[in-house]
Amino acid sequence: MKKLMAANWKMYKTRAEAEQTAKELVRLVGSLPEDREVLVFPPFTSIDVVTSVFEGHAGFFVGGQDFYTEQEGAFTGEIAPSMLVDCGARYGLAGHSERRHVLGETDVFVGDKTAFGLASGLKVVLCVGELLEERKADKVQEVLSRQIRAGLKGVPHDVDPASLAVAYEPVWAIGTGEVAGSDEIKDAHAICRNELIELFGDKGNDIRILYGGSVKPDNCSGIISLDNVDGVLVGGASLQGESFSKIVLA
Ligand code: PGA
Repeated sequence: MKKLMAANWKMYKTRAEAEQTAKELVRLVGSLPEDREVLVFPPFTSIDVVTSVFEGHAGFFVGGQDFYTEQEGAFTGEIAPSMLVDCGARYGLAGHSERRHVLGETDVFVGDKTAFGLASGLKVVLCVGELLEERKADKVQEVLSRQIRAGLKGVPHDVDPASLAVAYEPVWAIGTGEVAGSDEIKDAHAICRNELIELFGDKGNDIRILYGGSVKPDNCSGIISLDNVDGVLVGGASLQGESFSKIVLA
């Protein structure tokens, strides 16, 4: 299983800046190690320019940070999975904590999104993770199980495991500089793995589980060597080609 090294650029970068960062990334990474894949989620407006930069570079992919649950229609401000594909995206992100906690997306909506994205030909990265108060109340297992079960509810049992990934992102570690500890990451990823095996049988072993939350060049190699960590999802440290290339190669 190749490690998926993913960048979430959130609401940062003009098209020119996105193009420059993508070019820098490709140059600094050089020839991508066999066991790695790179995935960048730029803002919608830069999906096409980043796709153009990645053309001809095997193992570099582009994704959309969000998408809607309909193919087309009167849904002002929304974007369909097929529109992302049309711009060059191969992946979509569902249920990022900022969508859940800032924009109010529910478990059910995130589940509908994941199923619809997959059915529309996108590979989907489903994000899950507990709030600090949920961790303090010993509810990590409960929250992750609930978010994974609801998030994958409409996904067929015979899903291609390569088309799905789960990103464990403890909300308290996102953008705070406070990375989760090794035991916390191992325990949470084991919970995610067990849920995936319960849902999809053996195939659950082949679905990648990423860690996200204050991943930096200096903590990445420790994180990706942990059990059941099949990649990372990086926000702040992915905005510069220099730091993200170090993470990709960590
Ligand atoms: P961070 O963000 O790396 O800045 O903590 C991670 C994310 O939001 O996916």
